[in-house]
Amino acid sequence: MIDTHAHLDGCDADPGELLERAEAVGVSRVITVGTGLESCRHALSLADAHPGVVAALGIDPHQAASPDASRVEELRELLDHTRAVAVGETGLDGHHGAETLREQRVLFDAQLALADELGLPVVVHSREASEETAAALATFGGTVVLHCFSEPDLLQTALERRYYVSFAGNVTYPRAEALRTAAAQVPSDRLLAETDSPYLAPQPVRGRPNEPAHVRHTLATLALARNESTDELEARIDANATAAFGLERP
Ligand SMILES: [Zn+2]
Repeated sequence: MIDTHAHLDGCDADPGELLERAEAVGVSRVITVGTGLESCRHALSLADAHPGVVAALGIDPHQAASPDASRVEELRELLDHTRAVAVGETGLDGHHGAETLREQRVLFDAQLALADELGLPVVVHSREASEETAAALATFGGTVVLHCFSEPDLLQTALERRYYVSFAGNVTYPRAEALRTAAAQVPSDRLLAETDSPYLAPQPVRGRPNEPAHVRHTLATLALARNESTDELEARIDANATAAFGLERP
């Protein structure tokens, strides 16, 4: 199984140990996600050091007012790396940073243009910004992964535009009924699972730092919500991740 979204560079524990624990429960592949230029370089070094790891490289919306925001061009060279598989995460956050939404959009647009030019998928963070995100993506023709899906009002657009919809640990929370309903509506060829480690640890391990091994709990919740077997869903999600990110089959 694959964890399609983790921040291994943001975890306190040693990445090697986290990957060993993941491997022990059959999570043999991880996409580690850069959030700024320094974080992207770190993600690439982890991908170089660990055969099961590849990297998504982006400047996230929380950097919209930072010096990195004017250095999107530097991503181009980093994305040339053979283990870089996607642009992102990038996107819009109206919760943490509503005051920089205009700058976030400029940063997002620049990375969409880069993804388009390089023919890479884009990993999108959208929080309390569903309308703005839908508008920003309207003219993007490439592959879109909506990471840590948390906006049910964005679902219809996502389904119409055939986006990949990725669920994180928060789909397991008792009050996340609307997210589980959304998960049940995603076509089986567009569903993904992730941890967003070290954030959003799923219900059984909630309150602790999250890690890639815990993607299994998210998978179990998704299978229950969709009334499917976990084994079949695991194979399905693996195939989806392989297609979405252009990965080689393990
Ligand atoms: Zn993330």
